[in-house]
Amino acid sequence: MLTKTFTCERCGNCCLHGAFSEVGEEDVVLWTDSGRTDILEWVHFRPIGDGDYAYEVWVDPKTKQEVEQCPWLEKLSDAGAYMCQIHDLKPSICRHFPASRKHAEEIGCLGLEGTGTEEKHG
Ligand code: SF4
Ligand code: SF4
Repeated sequence: MLTKTFTCERCGNCCLHGAFSEVGEEDVVLWTDSGRTDILEWVHFRPIGDGDYAYEVWVDPKTKQEVEQCPWLEKLSDAGAYMCQIHDLKPSICRHFPASRKHAEEIGCLGLEGTGTEEKHG
């Protein structure tokens, strides 16, 4: 993970272009322990055998259809700033972005050249 040179600019590119289709069991456990049924409602538990599940996201609880954009991404302004509505409980894959400089460049992450806070978007 990048630390010293990384500064989140809240551009939202990781959320808009860094698509992922599953979260980990640790995320489901975290949301369960935190009582966040509102997040769990957007997770489809797909049985994969032996009592295990794949945790597919994000699935609209009303339509049961997978949505194209993360439902927790909020646009803050027309200038293109974004925040995560579940920042403190975001999935592990989001907490660990970017995994490398190459990964950041592929997604178009502006954090590598930023000068703001060190906190990731939230
Ligand atoms: S959960 Fe938060 S950090 Fe992860 S994609 Fe959605 S808005 Fe972005
Ligand atoms: S982590 Fe990078 S891509 Fe994501 S909002 Fe921050 S600057 Fe943008």
